[in-house]
Amino acid sequence: MQFTSLDLIDPILKALAEEGYANPTPVQAASIPVVLSGNDLLACAQTGTGKTAAFAIPVLQRLHESHIHGEKRRIRALVLTPTRELAVQIGESFAAYGRHTGLVSTVIFGGVNQNPQTARLLRGVDILVATPGRLIDLMGQGHLHLRDIEYFVLDEADRMLDMGFIHDVKRVIAALPKRRQSLFFSATMPPEIVKLAATILHEPEKVEVTPVSSTAELINQHILFVDKGNKNNLLVHLLHDHSVGHVLVFTRTKHGADKVARFLQRHDISAEAIHGNKSQNARQRALNNFKSRETRVLVATDIAARGIDVDELEYVVNIDLPEVPETYVHRIGRTGRAGSAGTAYSFCNAEEVPLLRDIEKLIAKRIPVIEGHPFPMTEAAGVAAEPVKSKAGSGHRTPAPGPQGGDRKRRWYGKR
Ligand code: AMP
Repeated sequence: MQFTSLDLIDPILKALAEEGYANPTPVQAASIPVVLSGNDLLACAQTGTGKTAAFAIPVLQRLHESHIHGEKRRIRALVLTPTRELAVQIGESFAAYGRHTGLVSTVIFGGVNQNPQTARLLRGVDILVATPGRLIDLMGQGHLHLRDIEYFVLDEADRMLDMGFIHDVKRVIAALPKRRQSLFFSATMPPEIVKLAATILHEPEKVEVTPVSSTAELINQHILFVDKGNKNNLLVHLLHDHSVGHVLVFTRTKHGADKVARFLQRHDISAEAIHGNKSQNARQRALNNFKSRETRVLVATDIAARGIDVDELEYVVNIDLPEVPETYVHRIGRTGRAGSAGTAYSFCNAEEVPLLRDIEKLIAKRIPVIEGHPFPMTEAAGVAAEPVKSKAGSGHRTPAPGPQGGDRKRRWYGKR
């Protein structure tokens, strides 16, 4: 299917062509007609599926079609999202897809001075993207109201709940007009989310795309067993292979992220860390440097990386394996986006072998192991690694399959 068969208006088709989008992703193909027809939507889709455009495109179109030229701008669409990073990305998406519509959007979030945000609101906007805290704050101060909202999008509803924003979300909903179109997006649908959706939506149409475990199938995944103390050395070794371009590296802790970034810098590899202890400006700067390819390696904690959206990110490295197996899928989902293949390398030390087993259970497959690198695991290797090996049978430790695995392996060994 092509975007041209979705009844989209020219200003939007033109912007999509400029973005280089030819075909809608499944969540877009399913959601856009629902929203254009005026129905409420309940979508089960995670980041990486193209969900932002799935709501941004039809909302822009509906707003454009009913926009009266010369009329004072009112906030007619509200997108509520849990994190600043997501808010910024959603704002960028509205700006990109809406660039020929004449509609104006802006983003508000906490942790930064509010004055530029209120000044922007005063000049008039059609679309507001907001995190809940700052939205309620600015409403309380009288800088904005939600009486003119015609379109309401709740993004990452399950994360809102996890992050303790449910009361804020309910306060926002209470301030919305009853007559409106609502779109509800969540990666998972636990009972509390279903309940929340029922209070917001009116006879919604439901759209569901690939569950979390199968997104992992698009990505070339590899495990490297290594001692804890050698993980940084192994990372440097991996990065000496220049065909491994820009890399997003995950660590479990903020401290760990800083340490890895400093270690890489000492080895003349440009790297920056991004985590919750850094100011919003420092995080945004690090992200921009990575996006513009000025920095080769971005080291991130899981929370900081939520929603990081880097086009054409080919490589993810997990320096530590995450405690929660779903986090592994979210991490590697940063690469191989919107259908293009990516590669994920995960370092695993003896203690982490049980975590590896949980991940393999979730994704229902064995992750191929790359052997023979210069820092093989020596810590109780026989004991720790054995259960994985015996379960997997002989096939588990063969060179990584796929077009890249074998090649990559040979190249690495050549450098020893
Ligand atoms: P999202 O799930 O909204 O975070 O989007 C994931 C990524 O896919 C973003 O980098 C988008 O720019 C990209 N994307 C969204 N829709 C398309 C499309 N139809 N074709 C190609 N890339 C897309």
